[in-house]
Amino acid sequence: MRIALIAHDKKKPELIDFVKRHIDVFRMHDLYATGTTGSIIIEETGLKVMLKKSGPLGGDQEIGSMVANRKIDMIFFFRDPLTAQPHEPDVSALLRLSDVYQIPLATNKETGEHFVANLRK
Ligand code: PGA
Repeated sequence: MRIALIAHDKKKPELIDFVKRHIDVFRMHDLYATGTTGSIIIEETGLKVMLKKSGPLGGDQEIGSMVANRKIDMIFFFRDPLTAQPHEPDVSALLRLSDVYQIPLATNKETGEHFVANLRK
């Protein structure tokens, strides 16, 4: 599977921890990520991740473009709903596209756990 990983700043530690806990699963898939999230994942886990631009610089749109071209199969996007994001329109557009193309998207850790449980089957 081609999996996209994205986290807003305050959720990055949570996503990194999540990826570490399930590294055996993530290791088996092709990983894509927005710039900052992906750099931290590479640094902290050594996983191979294909990096897009940082979110505020268009990374969410790049992932969205992949979704529209059917090049992404699953998205983990740990969002921070309590902090205003300068690129909120891009974030909303990505969520919209995931619904247009019916791509599973986990916006928080608990949903993510269900996705991973499914990947383990
Ligand atoms: P980042 O982008 O991984 O480059 O921080 C994520 C986002 O804020 O959408």
